[in-house]
Amino acid sequence: MFIPFYVPSKEHLRIIIVGGGYSGLAALATLREHNSDAEIVLIDPRADHLKITQLHESFRRPWTDVHLPFRNLEHRFGIRHIQANIQLDEGLLKQSNADRVLVADNQLLDFDYLLIATGAAFRKLEKGERTLDLDDFIAEPGPDLLDRHFQSGGGDGNYLTVVGGGATGIQFLFEIAHFVRERRIPCRLRLTDVEDAPLTQFNAKLGRYTEARLDDLGIEFMPGHFFRNQTADRVVLERRETGEPVELPSSLSLLFVGKSPLSRQETNWFGQVVAEGTTLDRVFAAGDCSRYRVPGSNSFSAQTAIRKGKLAARNILRHSGRIKLLEPYVHQDIGYVVSLGPADAVGWVASQRNVVGGSPAAAVKGIVEAQYDLLLAGIDTYLL
Ligand SMILES: Cc1cc2nc3c(=O)[nH]c(=O)nc-3n(C[C@H](O)[C@H](O)[C@H](O)COP(=O)(O)OP(=O)(O)OC[C@H]3O[C@@H](n4cnc5c(N)ncnc54)[C@H](O)[C@@H]3O)c2cc1C
Repeated sequence: MFIPFYVPSKEHLRIIIVGGGYSGLAALATLREHNSDAEIVLIDPRADHLKITQLHESFRRPWTDVHLPFRNLEHRFGIRHIQANIQLDEGLLKQSNADRVLVADNQLLDFDYLLIATGAAFRKLEKGERTLDLDDFIAEPGPDLLDRHFQSGGGDGNYLTVVGGGATGIQFLFEIAHFVRERRIPCRLRLTDVEDAPLTQFNAKLGRYTEARLDDLGIEFMPGHFFRNQTADRVVLERRETGEPVELPSSLSLLFVGKSPLSRQETNWFGQVVAEGTTLDRVFAAGDCSRYRVPGSNSFSAQTAIRKGKLAARNILRHSGRIKLLEPYVHQDIGYVVSLGPADAVGWVASQRNVVGGSPAAAVKGIVEAQYDLLLAGIDTYLL
């Protein structure tokens, strides 16, 4: 596929991508497809790209299925990975745009274009000995974490409490339900959320379907409660309406309380960073860490992250070319499917009103994940 209005100049491009998640890698694949000799450096503190949309599946799939070592991508896309954590505030971004130099791992890197794609931070609650959050599931396979807990005496006749009925909490909860049933672990499950239903960010029908499935599996649902803390054998909640504390049996709480909407980098319609009121022509941002000017979607979703990454890459190439006519961001998500265990899912396709559930929804989710895997293999099947 060719890029309209991209007429390459003779310049040998040097591009730095900070953040090797969904948007960073979508940008990388697009850049490489259209410019085979650009020098691309990818900076990420991790050793592996994490397929976080599939992380809950690590309860039934090998850990290696959700981790792709950056050294494989170095080879596949002809890039260099530097394992480093880059912190850039607006002042430093302006300075980098002027100097076109970035320091990473004590190396001075010259660049023509810089793409910031560092994702969004998770909301954190205070953790104790008997709480786990997403960072734990990123660091270690879920089965190992739970096995350790059950072997240490937690589980027998006990409850495990999942805090947060958003997409992440729901996906983990249903995988755990499948996991404990398969292994015949005598452990009951509970979901609690401050809202009145699960998946409240979507059409209410998604929540209703999910509640019915919770019921079918015998999972207790406690809506309208804040999480306060988890002791050795109790979870302490607080009723949203009255502030009254509620203590319930629980040996472990899993905290999935969503992403922080704070500190997103503003950009213009083309993905160029706007810092302290100035548009930086050589610095772009994409993915969850960015807020593009509307009308395009700024949702915290892999689809949006991929589309922003691809658009930023096309605009970097156009800006480096002879015409410099950039493309505005207009992408809208065309669906979102939440997995409810290995064979079930619920979501919407085409319009928020068009709800899908059951095995057809699980198939849609599988297709979306397969399309991303193709992109990582260097085969771009996204239309835009
Ligand atoms: C558990 C979970 C399940 C999800 N499931 C779905 C789903 O089913 N469908 C969907 O559409 N969306 C889903 N999402 C949302 C989706 O994963 C995100 O919207 C998407 O990953 C955002 O892509 P990104 O590139 O902006 O950030 P990320 O994919 O988070 O990548 C950010 C990268 O930047 C790196 N980084 C961070 N800080 C720095 C730094 N200072 N310097 C250098 N590198 C840095 C990180 O190591 C990481 O590799 C899910 C999210 C979670 C947490």
